[in-house]
Amino acid sequence: MNYLAHLFRLSEQDLKKEVYRELKKMRKKPYWHRDFIYAKGTVPILLVAHMDTVFENPPREVYYKKSEDKIFSFTNGLGADDRCGVYALLEISKKYNPSVLFTQGEEIGLIGAQSAVDTLAKPKVKYIIEFDRMGSNDMVFYDCGNTPFMNYIKQFGFEKQYGTYSDISILGPIWDIASVNLSCGYYREHSKSEYVIFHELEHNIERVEKMIQDYEQVPYFDHREVFPLKEAYPLPGMNNPFSLYLDQIYGITKDATAKGNVYQKKKEIK
Ligand SMILES: [Zn+2]
Repeated sequence: MNYLAHLFRLSEQDLKKEVYRELKKMRKKPYWHRDFIYAKGTVPILLVAHMDTVFENPPREVYYKKSEDKIFSFTNGLGADDRCGVYALLEISKKYNPSVLFTQGEEIGLIGAQSAVDTLAKPKVKYIIEFDRMGSNDMVFYDCGNTPFMNYIKQFGFEKQYGTYSDISILGPIWDIASVNLSCGYYREHSKSEYVIFHELEHNIERVEKMIQDYEQVPYFDHREVFPLKEAYPLPGMNNPFSLYLDQIYGITKDATAKGNVYQKKKEIK
């Protein structure tokens, strides 16, 4: 827990240096990009977390209330979204060797995820797990509708919930790899009263370690869209809230007519 508190106190750039150093220490070969850090592993599973927070500065103090196993701060917000995810990836990487991706700019439009798909070759992994969901027991698939994959994750005790977007909303469809976002024990994210229930984070780290131990038993899960957008929204771009949303927020449009699932970066109109 002290190490998590340490991560909370770091600025984004210092955290990035810390992640890079830690991965080096573990004898991995981290790749430093302006918008992310990536390290390829030997276990064919990719873990994702983001290094930026919505807060300009890290908290000055980090407190712990033992009776509730609760970590919190009074100033600046904790930044548990998504320092808890960063912590989870580093803890798991000490014992196992999955591929790991630490992004930046998640909160301002999934910048790091977009750079990763623009820069990296599609990783040869069976599925993607992101640690970037509030609460204790959620699994969120966004528009990934691969039922065998969803059932597999459910076996570990998670419950399906819904969310708007996160890094895997880009990574999953573009790489055509099934992906899920899992709870990491934080609550009231994006507010000064943000807090973490530490054992909930630890529990989900353990559950993902069990998945890693089980990796040989599962196939390469592909993305498989929930439902074809064209059928659900016959007038694309007009009454399709999903594509409209991405379009407005990120300048990304989803081309549902193309083969497979392709996000196309909207050309800048000058
Ligand atoms: Zn987040």
